[in-house]
Amino acid sequence: MIKFLDLKLLNKPYENEFKAKFEAFLNSGQYILGNEVLNFEAEFAAYCGTKYCIGTSNGLDALHIIFEAYKVLGKLSVGDEVIVPANTYIASILAISNTGLKPVLVEPDINTCNIDVSSVERAITPLTKAVLGVHLYGQLYQVNALEKLCDANNLLLIEDAAQAHGAVNLEGNKAGNMSNVAAFSFYPTKNLGALGDAGAITTNNTALAETIRKLRNYGRSSTYKYDLKGYNCRMDELQATFLRVKLKHLDVDNAKRKANGQLYIRNINNLKIKLPFYSTNEDHVFHQFVIRVDDRKAFMDYMIKNNIETSIHYPLAPHEQKAFANFSHCNLPLTKKIHKEVVSLPINSALTSNEINEIIKVINKY
Ligand SMILES: *Cc1c(COP(=O)(O)O)cnc(C)c1O
Repeated sequence: MIKFLDLKLLNKPYENEFKAKFEAFLNSGQYILGNEVLNFEAEFAAYCGTKYCIGTSNGLDALHIIFEAYKVLGKLSVGDEVIVPANTYIASILAISNTGLKPVLVEPDINTCNIDVSSVERAITPLTKAVLGVHLYGQLYQVNALEKLCDANNLLLIEDAAQAHGAVNLEGNKAGNMSNVAAFSFYPTKNLGALGDAGAITTNNTALAETIRKLRNYGRSSTYKYDLKGYNCRMDELQATFLRVKLKHLDVDNAKRKANGQLYIRNINNLKIKLPFYSTNEDHVFHQFVIRVDDRKAFMDYMIKNNIETSIHYPLAPHEQKAFANFSHCNLPLTKKIHKEVVSLPINSALTSNEINEIIKVINKY
């Protein structure tokens, strides 16, 4: 059986280093916001090319704290509209609604499954204050076009970079450094994955970074001094030690994912399979390799019969979920179609080229 994702296997190369790091962590006696978090923040900021990185408890909390910080700074207020692609992971939309802002769902580009800049433009109203762009499946959205549109309309541009660690645009900027502020997740399945929950925020804006740093830790400015009504969204010290180990290997891991993706794109030649858009630039780190098929169930059953696990990102659109019953009236046919047709093939860096070639052979016979 070729598994869709085997997290134990994925972390196997780092096992010895993790164990040594755990020993050191245990002996340090410093278990909250210690040197490991500080060092990870400096290293991840340097990796992304941003002035600041603030570690958080997870990706959803990173997004949440960003919106709360903009409220503290007077840039956003309750009821403001935030435009977001309708086919993103539900966390992007929850972060907006949980902070009292109004998510405005827009259709993606059917070819890239990424945010469609022209549908963003059509959705702008006098109440629109921000756009949350999502680099879905590890592929950058149209960065320059969206930035231009946001500048022209005086909108904040926020990146959800939870799936795109290390993706680079044509100008050489990394995900996390192509907007006002970005949120990352280090959920274990992400391209840079911890052994538990973790996330981060990157930005070049000093006032924003300072506000976020306070909000993450009860609103605290220094010991026993509280400037804001904050939260506990701190990055875990132990997860920071693991992430520091894996960050050094992120580019190599991403290169393996890209090689796997390129093998699929070059060699899958079955007209029943719609391959994902790929520009051959460095702007895609293949968090997922997402194809589209008409009869998804038949295809997935066929793959399982041939001992290959596949997955779905995601089976049901956020506006069709019970939690977002208030959006059930939305007419989003492209989003619906994407959720009905998408299938994710195994793509992670632990797969061998033999396994990828076996998957290609089976798909071409479908
Ligand atoms: C994973 C993910 C998140 C949430 O991250 P968590 O760490 O699970 O809270 C947010 N947005 C997108 C696009 C994601 O893929």
